[in-house]
Amino acid sequence: MPRVTESAEDYLERINELIDGKGYARVADIAKTLGVKQASVTRMVQRLSAQGFLAYEKYRGLTLTRKGRKVALGVKRRHKAIEQFMRILGVDDATRAREIEDIEHHLSGETIRRLEDLVELLKENPRLVKRLREGRGA
Ligand code: CA
Repeated sequence: MPRVTESAEDYLERINELIDGKGYARVADIAKTLGVKQASVTRMVQRLSAQGFLAYEKYRGLTLTRKGRKVALGVKRRHKAIEQFMRILGVDDATRAREIEDIEHHLSGETIRRLEDLVELLKENPRLVKRLREGRGA
């Protein structure tokens, strides 16, 4: 996976979500979902385009290149694995939302694969999850 900054990963992740959901990603929508100014979005979009992560197509608007999509899907997978794990642990919504956004940039593919395996294992053992949530450890 190409190395990109955390901020760039967040942009690519959100742009991918917007395209999946609405069919397109406009600067105004990206700014809104990331809580940043439109001028910042424009600068980052220019940088990501120059680096080959984004492209602009006449009728479709902003699109992810294969390289950009690969980064976005990587973040999405990490986000999902951490999210499922934290849900099983019973971490509340607000804490989860805040912490995942940081952690998702720092775990390797190998760690994520292990985490996905752990989540599957825990799903197959509801009694263990119950004990964990009751604070009695394993
Ligand atoms: Ca993030």
